[in-house]
Amino acid sequence: HNDSFDYPLRPSEMDWSTHYPNIDAPKVEFLDVGCGFGGLTIALATLFPENLTLAMEIRPKVTEYVRLRIDALRQDALATTKAYQNVSVLRTNAMRYLPHYFEKGQIKKMFFCFPDPQFKVRNHRRRIVNTHLLTEYAYLIAEGGILYTITDVEDLHNWHVAKCDAHPCFERITDEADLEADPCVKAMTEETEEGKKVARSGGKKYVAVYRRIPDATVA
Ligand code: SAM
Repeated sequence: HNDSFDYPLRPSEMDWSTHYPNIDAPKVEFLDVGCGFGGLTIALATLFPENLTLAMEIRPKVTEYVRLRIDALRQDALATTKAYQNVSVLRTNAMRYLPHYFEKGQIKKMFFCFPDPQFKVRNHRRRIVNTHLLTEYAYLIAEGGILYTITDVEDLHNWHVAKCDAHPCFERITDEADLEADPCVKAMTEETEEGKKVARSGGKKYVAVYRRIPDATVA
């Protein structure tokens, strides 16, 4: 990877108008972290027309693909609606720069869909869900906000559960009815390119969803 990224010094210095040109005072609320080809973000655009979603991706060509994909959808829609104006993509290293982009408590939903498994033990510290980064995510996610994970790698799923369970700021949503009622769970299972690939090969998908506990009740 080319490891030089442009990023704002602080969130107030970020100009979102190029990302969301048809939205007044844009405020990102949903993050698709490591979006890949953007299937989830595209799905969120129509599921949540009132919320702004940002897809984040480290690979330049993949980011450009998603940018063009969103642009084409916007152009198609523009004749009749403002659909897809509420989603955009940003090339960045999400493990390094998130607090440069977002204020405390700004994020309502954060998605980690089929993150790179980093199988080798010496690379586990590079996993995008880890104890240190969960504290950063807890800072960015609003009280009551939701952190979603899905993977086809059982070991990684167990890691997600272990790290999130152990973190004082998150509690797992275990109620099957709650999970089934959440359209995001269906979208992240069915709409990401990786999710579709796993479905085609008959693989299993493991979901773990966590609520950001209110600060007053954090033990
Ligand atoms: N979420 C997509 C899906 O489910 O189809 C893509 C999954 S893919 C296996 C993982 C993606 O995360 C890759 O596109 C990779 O480039 C991206 N990625 C890995 N580390 C990242 C980082 N630190 N910041 C942003 N994106 C990252």
